Amino acid sequence: MTVKRVIKGVHVVPLGMANAFLIEGDDGLTLIDAGFPGKEAAVFGAIRGLGRSSNQLEHLIFTHGHPDHIGSAAAIVRETGARTYMHPLDIPMAESGGPFRPMTPAPGLLRQGMCRLFFHPKKLMDPVAINQPLIDGEILPIAGGIEVIHTPGHCAGQVALLWRPGRMLFAGDVCMNIMGLGDPLGFENLQEGRASQRKLGSLSFEAVGFGHGQPIAYDASTRFRNKYGQNPEDVHQQRSAA
Ligand SMILES: [Zn+2]
Ligand SMILES: [Zn+2]
Repeated sequence: MTVKRVIKGVHVVPLGMANAFLIEGDDGLTLIDAGFPGKEAAVFGAIRGLGRSSNQLEHLIFTHGHPDHIGSAAAIVRETGARTYMHPLDIPMAESGGPFRPMTPAPGLLRQGMCRLFFHPKKLMDPVAINQPLIDGEILPIAGGIEVIHTPGHCAGQVALLWRPGRMLFAGDVCMNIMGLGDPLGFENLQEGRASQRKLGSLSFEAVGFGHGQPIAYDASTRFRNKYGQNPEDVHQQRSAA
């Protein structure tokens, strides 16, 4: 399994249908998300590919508690002893290994079909214990600082993570980058999901990684602002109309 550098210090670990990311810090390695079940060997291969060993994986931070993000977590923790982090609203799903809260497929035929194909809320995963609940707005003292931004909608306990030293955002499933920036496969709450997309559209960052689809290495917040942020010309027109 290959790892691919996104920016200095961050590699994407493609795990079939989902992505994980490795951050190299002075305090060891941090993994963002853990793929579907059976992907632990790919993660360990990625770590070796960086010239590191599995016991250097210190932290495993989850963007949310869905099966495609926690599936291999228990196996990874068994091998590495990594400390685990998740928003409190999703911790019960991870610690029970499901069932998972249902989602309504996102608008559009493609996503409706894919949601039914890939999201099985009743299918159980290996449970994983969470060591530390994540708090909206906190900055984790990991790898030079990782900011936690609560982004519910797709999943109530979803967070985006902003790695400050590299100005890279990990967007989880707030949106995907498959054939361009777009919705995730489904939402627990569509309105909250739209609000979370706009929240990310208001931030400043250089690179972004997604749970699904290709990362963007440069000028990523402009893409988000164009898609989800308020267009400055709209603001101007509203002001002139007022
Ligand atoms: Zn998800
Ligand atoms: Zn996902």
